[in-house]
Amino acid sequence: MSMIAARNIHKSFQSQDVLKGVDLDIGKGETVVLLGASGSGKSTLLRCLNFLEMPTSGEVCLDGKRVGTPDAGGRMRYSETELCQLRQRVGMVFQQFNLFPHLTVEWNVMIAQRKVLGRSEAQARERARYYLEKVGLAEKINEYPARLSGGQQQRVAIARSLAMEPDVMLFDEATSALDPELVGEVLQTMKNLSGEGMTMLIVTHELGFAYNVAHRIVFLHEGTIIEEGTPDEILVHPKSERTKAFLRGHT
Ligand code: ADP
Ligand code: MG
Repeated sequence: MSMIAARNIHKSFQSQDVLKGVDLDIGKGETVVLLGASGSGKSTLLRCLNFLEMPTSGEVCLDGKRVGTPDAGGRMRYSETELCQLRQRVGMVFQQFNLFPHLTVEWNVMIAQRKVLGRSEAQARERARYYLEKVGLAEKINEYPARLSGGQQQRVAIARSLAMEPDVMLFDEATSALDPELVGEVLQTMKNLSGEGMTMLIVTHELGFAYNVAHRIVFLHEGTIIEEGTPDEILVHPKSERTKAFLRGHT
């Protein structure tokens, strides 16, 4: 059974149809990489999966349970409580890390645990240390973000998300804002998470990483999934001309 699923998701902004009926199932422990040209709707899909954007129509299911309830007209309705819980269970890491500059690394990882999950200070600290160690930053707990490299800051952001103990992690171009020499450490962190069995959906332009880490690759073109398969099927033997053209632009 899938951990997270999109069922016929449509999303429009004004008159622009950005997602045109996306179906996607991600199994528990599966790592899926989402590829597609700029503007194809990758970020919008991720944002719909954790309801930073409301899908115009369609459903999201988390661990077999549909999010929201249809009203008499068949339109999905979502309660704030439900969306709040959902966002805790579906973590997201962005290109911009957005750490709190006035808080230490440790407190950056503790704050949402305290405010959203209501964990005690001691418990939040214990979890923060556990996840900071996991991303290789145990020795930085008392630093302020400005004293860390971009790669280290992004690893703090990953630890912050992991500390909420989500069922699924979404990564939206998590390494795109980094200097090239810092990309590897963040990809390694993501690879470790995948190896530990985290359920992940990753948008990335790092095709070598995608080849090595993805269990499955999905190719989005103008709001529609036009091809999906194993890394070999998509990256080495793509069938669609769109996928081929995309790959030519990345070599
Ligand atoms: P990608 O991440 O694949 O580059 P996006 O999902 O960011 O693509 O964007 C897909 C399309 O949706 C783009 O044309 C973009 O301009 C449009 N779009 C995304 N978010 C919004 C928004 N909040 N309001 C209006 N248009 C948007
Ligand atoms: Mg994007």
